[in-house]
Amino acid sequence: MIPVTKVHLPSSDKYKSYIDKIWETGWITNNGECVRELEDKLKNYLGVKHLFFVSNGTIAIQIAIKALELQGEVITTPFSYVATTSSIVWENCEPVFADIDAQSLCINPAEIESKITDKTSAIMATHVYGNACDVEAIHKIAEKHNLKVIYDAAHSFATDYKKESVLKWGDISTLSFHATKIFHTVEGGAVVTDNDEIAHKLSYLRNFGHKTPESFWGVGVNGKNSEMHAAMGLCMLDEIDDVIALRKDMANEYDAVLPKTGIQKPSPNSNQSLNYAYYPILLESEEKRIEVQEALNKENIFPRRYFYPSLNKLPYLKEGGPDMPVSESAGKRVLSLPFYTSLKKEEIKMVADIIKATVKV
Ligand SMILES: *Cc1c(COP(=O)(O)O)cnc(C)c1O
Repeated sequence: MIPVTKVHLPSSDKYKSYIDKIWETGWITNNGECVRELEDKLKNYLGVKHLFFVSNGTIAIQIAIKALELQGEVITTPFSYVATTSSIVWENCEPVFADIDAQSLCINPAEIESKITDKTSAIMATHVYGNACDVEAIHKIAEKHNLKVIYDAAHSFATDYKKESVLKWGDISTLSFHATKIFHTVEGGAVVTDNDEIAHKLSYLRNFGHKTPESFWGVGVNGKNSEMHAAMGLCMLDEIDDVIALRKDMANEYDAVLPKTGIQKPSPNSNQSLNYAYYPILLESEEKRIEVQEALNKENIFPRRYFYPSLNKLPYLKEGGPDMPVSESAGKRVLSLPFYTSLKKEEIKMVADIIKATVKV
């Protein structure tokens, strides 16, 4: 069976050495040594000022919304994982969708301004597949209308925009370190900001609002993560450059063997570096996508429709919102191909041959 993704597991000897240390100290959670070491190393590696390791990428978004005290309407992308929208709803805000750009599949800045009302408090955009949003255009719109900006950067570990971390854009960026992401801590995530005031808020929001054991800065939640998860992150961080290099080779291999016509690939921003987090393709029509998917499934190969459904169609949203034709069309035609570090060249060739044969029909 060839699934869309398989977890990359780092050296188990290294992991065990961290576990032995944890057993010695008996300190397994609450801002322990591994958590602090991981946060310091990640800040350094990613080139960001403040980073808080949290229990997952979804609580990272929820904490970000709380820290910026968002209310009312949040303009967001319909083309992302469900957590981008569900977190807005969970925090009692209303998602207002702006359609995506047909090339990058990120939110289209030209669609944002017409969605702004006097209830709009923020823009929440996703750097989908690690393709950076048009951060400069979004920044200008936010400044002009006095809006906050959160980037769901769950796919953007270690990507730069104009030679600096893309995580520096917006008021807050959030990361997911789930097992399916290129850098993972089993479960985990992070909230990132360059702003000292926001950072202070994030620090207590993650930890029940504690100021001291018996006093509180404000309301908080439990967003902490454990020493065992941090230890996994430390082991992964040692291997991440190799992981990204390997994924780059695999992407080049797919590029070389996939058909040159009949498929489209989302294109990244020309100012950014890539992390090769996913390998998505768009077929010409929904019918072709179904044919390709069925042909692959028949050979026990399981690509996934990242991302479907278009989030404006979620059943718990107010019905009758505007259609998002670009996002809905992408969702009908997209397949993320199998893409993981243990995927073999022959398997890539096999996937490509099946797609070639099907696209041609
Ligand atoms: C994975 C993902 C999340 C959620 O992260 P978890 O760590 O699984 O909670 C949020 N947004 C996007 C775009 C994701 O891909």
